[in-house]
Amino acid sequence: MDVSVFGIGYVGLVQAATLADVGHRVVCVDIDERKIQQLQRGVPPIQEPGLPELLEDNLRDGRLAFSTQARDAIIHGQVIFIAVGTPPDEDGSADLSQVLAVTREIARHMEEDRTLVIKSTVPVGTASQVAATAREELGRQDKNHLRVRVVSNPEFLKEGNAVNDCTRPDRIIIGTDDDEARAQLAEIYAPFCRNHDKLIFMDNRSAELTKYAANAMLATRISLMNELANLAEQLGADIEAVRKGIGSDPRIGYHFIYPGCGFGGSCFPKDLRALLHTAASNGQPLRLLQSVQEVNEQQRQVLFRKLKQHYPDGLAGKSIAIWGLAFKPNTDDMREAPSRDLMEALWREGATVRAFDPEAMSECRRIYGYRDDLVLCATRDDTLQNADALVICTEWKAFRVVDFELLASKLRDRLIIDGRNLYNPVQVAAAGLHYLGIGLPHVPPYQIQAGAQ
Ligand code: NAD
Repeated sequence: MDVSVFGIGYVGLVQAATLADVGHRVVCVDIDERKIQQLQRGVPPIQEPGLPELLEDNLRDGRLAFSTQARDAIIHGQVIFIAVGTPPDEDGSADLSQVLAVTREIARHMEEDRTLVIKSTVPVGTASQVAATAREELGRQDKNHLRVRVVSNPEFLKEGNAVNDCTRPDRIIIGTDDDEARAQLAEIYAPFCRNHDKLIFMDNRSAELTKYAANAMLATRISLMNELANLAEQLGADIEAVRKGIGSDPRIGYHFIYPGCGFGGSCFPKDLRALLHTAASNGQPLRLLQSVQEVNEQQRQVLFRKLKQHYPDGLAGKSIAIWGLAFKPNTDDMREAPSRDLMEALWREGATVRAFDPEAMSECRRIYGYRDDLVLCATRDDTLQNADALVICTEWKAFRVVDFELLASKLRDRLIIDGRNLYNPVQVAAAGLHYLGIGLPHVPPYQIQAGAQ
């Protein structure tokens, strides 16, 4: 099918590339000229495993095109995906200005009926708002004979695994009451349903709420584990043992029960805020989710709190190595990353940060620029030069195996604070290091005597 995609960020780009890869002809539009020029040369502006290959193949085969010209894309695509940002407004509600601007633009240029597919995460009722906005603009243009069908098709991809998630989705939610739109979407997604049918049809409002419900459920699991981890620390229990103990129950499962330094990223915090706003403004406050949010805000300070406890005289003049800047592994995305809370708190205290991330170094530079108290290091181990302590913010694979003896010889205060519980506390302590994880019992550092069994 001829398809267009507006908004070529994490969602739009991966969606466009996977649609092209199964044979659809896809035209992508973004207002960011630099990004589009880069993409026309086949260079992805984001880090996603598998994306460079998809771009190269589909650009070469002419199934994928990038442009800043909205009109051409509107003429091209019978079905137009909207994947622009929906950032939080000051009151926490989702800002729909980008979605509505694209809607008006489509209505202005369309010459035949069009199906608009809302991929962006939007509050319940947005599909009706988009339909009304399109009708209004069509009326203004004297094009009342044209029809706009609106489909709510929320995206569930995980950054860092986005290509895989779009190629092999668990489910595809299609919210619409329009039969023709339903048939079009079934055709577009048929190549992704060869193994079994993944399409779940429902009304627009339920589809919109499904996206928020999914993120709310996942965020709740994380905050619950973080609260239990903090309690485990007080009680001298080991949250990692507890995690395994409950994860083995199939009703619970192992996903999203890892304790850590709080959730971040472009979705969970923002979507939680937007859902809380929707709920409150409909007279149905979500008390449980308010707590989930509060727990997370506290937890994002946990690494700094642990540092402060270790250094009661303050952190001024300290040099802190940080491993991991992205909000999670396999992405360069630092939106609302816990590493940012930590770095900013350290800078306020007068400490210096020596940081490394396998993918997010340029993003960090873009956000914070050049400053004396931020040293971006070329390798993981370079961060240890003249560092007093090490803090781990992101669970990149490259951090899983380390030489604790080396760490003990480099870190001046022999301290590791691990926001992701990557290591075995006994093994770390055996190298003479202080090791503070999340919800782990504290094993005091000790040195195995030479020759001991
Ligand atoms: P993003 O900020 O990476 O990309 C949005 C893009 O839209 C930008 O490139 C921007 O230049 C472009 N844009 C803005 N106005 C435009 C216009 N008028 N015409 C064309 N392009 C325009 O955002 P993202 O992370 O891809 O998220 C997009 C939406 O998908 C959001 O609603 C988000 O909540 C949702 N979502 C994101 C993820 C994720 O993991 N990032 C997952 C699921 C859903």
